[in-house]
Amino acid sequence: MKVGVLALQGDFREHISILKKLKLTPIEVRTKEELDNVKALIIPGGESTTIGKLLKKYQLDKEIKKRYKKGMPIYGTCAGAIVLAKEIIDSDQLNLDLIDVSIERNAYGRQADSFEADISLPNSKKPFHAIFIRAPKIKQIRNGVKILSKHKKEPILARTDNILISTFHPELTEDTRIHEYFIQMAKDKYN
Ligand code: GLN
Repeated sequence: MKVGVLALQGDFREHISILKKLKLTPIEVRTKEELDNVKALIIPGGESTTIGKLLKKYQLDKEIKKRYKKGMPIYGTCAGAIVLAKEIIDSDQLNLDLIDVSIERNAYGRQADSFEADISLPNSKKPFHAIFIRAPKIKQIRNGVKILSKHKKEPILARTDNILISTFHPELTEDTRIHEYFIQMAKDKYN
């Protein structure tokens, strides 16, 4: 399956190597043509304000929304999750409004802005070692959004039918299970 990784800013290369490990065909997406060529899309971690500005500049915001409406599954990690949210608290930066959550940027505060924790996963009994870097918090969850994992009572992994978000970075580990979960979501969609 051709899986796109939005490659405007952030840690898209790490997602690409995980997809290669899974024997998929990763495509760096910077243009509408590249987006047209993929069946699913990952929006990486990085800086959500910058990703938002570049999405607008290259008019990919509208194109991604169009593809989502036609059924393309999307996974956002950290900054990617922020970009996908319906509301980014106290910010007027671009958001795609594709998953009905309110999200707060850099919400773990300065001292604790980066940490690691073992979390549980829906598709596996073994804990997953999650890396949080200046992570956001999902503050409100509405219509049809299901929480898949929590850390200290905070939702950190959530999905709808076709959107998956995590406030941490599975692409920075060697563990492919969350990407596999997303690919399964995409396969379910197309089968
Ligand atoms: N703090 C970043 C933002 O607000 C997200 C950090 C990340 O992706 N690791 O966009």
